[in-house]
Amino acid sequence: MNTQHFEKRLRDKERELESTLAGLEGEGRVSGEAEVRDSIDEATASQGTAESFEEGTLLSHTLEQVRDALRRIQDGAFGTCTVCGRPIEPARLEAVPWTPYCLEDQQKQDRKI
Ligand SMILES: [Zn+2]
Repeated sequence: MNTQHFEKRLRDKERELESTLAGLEGEGRVSGEAEVRDSIDEATASQGTAESFEEGTLLSHTLEQVRDALRRIQDGAFGTCTVCGRPIEPARLEAVPWTPYCLEDQQKQDRKI
């Protein structure tokens, strides 16, 4: 597999997410994780704050997945599902290079939520 192509896309995405998150933090809308947990009640009290809280959480989660995927490139494990170990569908990797799951396991994950 041509992991260089994906590594470049992942690094671009990592930079993009980092700068978006830094922007959110700069506006004082996303604080440290411990602090966020303490202020959840406050955050949910105001719809606007809750929305950016969720946005920041989602971005942090994606950033984590991007970094994990970059680690899997280093380990030579990139492109295989972390649950069942089967190859992830190429079209899926092309669309979401940081996904840790094959389509089937992604659907199982989605059902859990
Ligand atoms: Zn799988």
